[in-house]
Amino acid sequence: MKKNIVIANWKMNPQSAQEARRLFDTITKGIRRVKKTDVVICPPFVHLPDVKSVRHTQKVFLGSQDIFWEEKGAYTGEISSRMLQSFGVTHVIIGHSERRRWLGETDEMINNKIKTALKAGLVPILCVGEWVREIPGEIPDIVENQVRSALKGLKKGDFKNGIIAYEPVWAIGTGRPETPDNAAKAALFIRKIVRDILGKKTAEHIRVIYGGSVNAENAASFISKDIRGMEGILVGGASLRADDFIKIVKSV
Ligand code: PEP
Repeated sequence: MKKNIVIANWKMNPQSAQEARRLFDTITKGIRRVKKTDVVICPPFVHLPDVKSVRHTQKVFLGSQDIFWEEKGAYTGEISSRMLQSFGVTHVIIGHSERRRWLGETDEMINNKIKTALKAGLVPILCVGEWVREIPGEIPDIVENQVRSALKGLKKGDFKNGIIAYEPVWAIGTGRPETPDNAAKAALFIRKIVRDILGKKTAEHIRVIYGGSVNAENAASFISKDIRGMEGILVGGASLRADDFIKIVKSV
């Protein structure tokens, strides 16, 4: 049976190594007895070595917020899969809407990053989601297009350990999350697309999760037993508050 997963995206926070260590230290202490849920924390690249030194449980996985698609060479400012792995990174967020928006990441770049992550044995956390809320409960075409282009060229089985985060952009950081029912509808829809592209086994194996204004109060509602097909959450803002994040993990 698949475990649920909670992923923390720290984005461009905290501002010092000391704060990063403190946050990681408190979180990993607080959740070290949690057994039934996988937890991944994705700090900024520069904090990876610091947080690794204060990991209280190996059960917390380290993730990065991005990866470059080439393995080495003249790519100023970029980080390769091997560099990430040398700091113990096992998971990588790919195609977050903030990178699509501010860094101009295209579907093609995202597809290349997914392939590179898979080749290196990293677990890709692909983020997809529409920019604006159109008709509540209806999943706009852009979600399907993003999934199809991100998985383009993969063979059956390649993505079986992958994670897809449904993150409607209008819900990110706004305090207005999607409803658990609508998020679950999107999860089923995403799984159907994956089934169409990569087959039934992969579609059943991947984890589809939700992200967008999840907090300690609403986290459990997204993956309660009444909500089928949602297997975790991606948390931004609330993952920077140790107490809230610990509560989120425990509630899941
Ligand atoms: C995110 O940026 O992926 C996210 C889910 O942010 P927040 O939880 O702050 O909405």
